[in-house]
Amino acid sequence: MLEKLEGIVLRTNDYGETNKIVTMFTREKGKKAAVARGAKKTNSRLSGVTQPFTHGIFLVQGSRGLGTMQQGEALSSMRYIREDLMKTAYAAYIVEMTDRTTEDGEINLPLFNLLQKSLEYINEGADAAIVTNIFEMKMLSQVGLRPELSSCVVCGETEGKFGFSIRENGLICHRCKEQDLHFLPLSPASIRLLRLFYFFDLERLGNIDVKESTKKELRAVISMYYDEYAGLYLKSRRFLEQMERFDYNFQAKEETNDD
Ligand SMILES: [Zn+2]
Repeated sequence: MLEKLEGIVLRTNDYGETNKIVTMFTREKGKKAAVARGAKKTNSRLSGVTQPFTHGIFLVQGSRGLGTMQQGEALSSMRYIREDLMKTAYAAYIVEMTDRTTEDGEINLPLFNLLQKSLEYINEGADAAIVTNIFEMKMLSQVGLRPELSSCVVCGETEGKFGFSIRENGLICHRCKEQDLHFLPLSPASIRLLRLFYFFDLERLGNIDVKESTKKELRAVISMYYDEYAGLYLKSRRFLEQMERFDYNFQAKEETNDD
């Protein structure tokens, strides 16, 4: 049976001399792998459309297990991501997390939309670090994590000065912070954004402009939380961290040169 699938290419693996196995996350079938015959040849009609991050329509033969890709047409090649090393690092992290937290054939429309929208925003030039943070906060439910972000996780108060307690699994207020001596103090801006990222639709991302210090706080608290609870070890995360360090150093140098 020939199926028409809207999908995003998560990764490809070489298969024989000239073929690729393409793993996609699709709207209709969840994660799905298909052999793209000849796709390793640059002149193949399947070579362009099977590049990582490509959002496209694919005709796949074989509804169960490994299918065979007959045709593909890109809706977006995500070329601005692939032309930029920093954007590529963030996008690689997003697709690897999708790959690692899903099983073949499990339909998940909210996740498909989240993945597609996140890559589209990065491709269009939105702040990739922020888009990635939003993706991570939205993925918490996918990995089975539900931090308390509405109120203090200990006393339930909604007013006060808050930090984040990894151990207690949520926001902790100034009255309760002795309960976790390792709580992370966060600025009100970071608290507000953590809540925003967790509760609101990615569709509503406008032009949010986030200070570097706030971005560092968000990166730190979200990474520590994932490290503690998610049990994911992603190759792309190490690459992303190296790139971020390089980027910060580069920005710091640029600022010094301006003086
Ligand atoms: Zn409290």
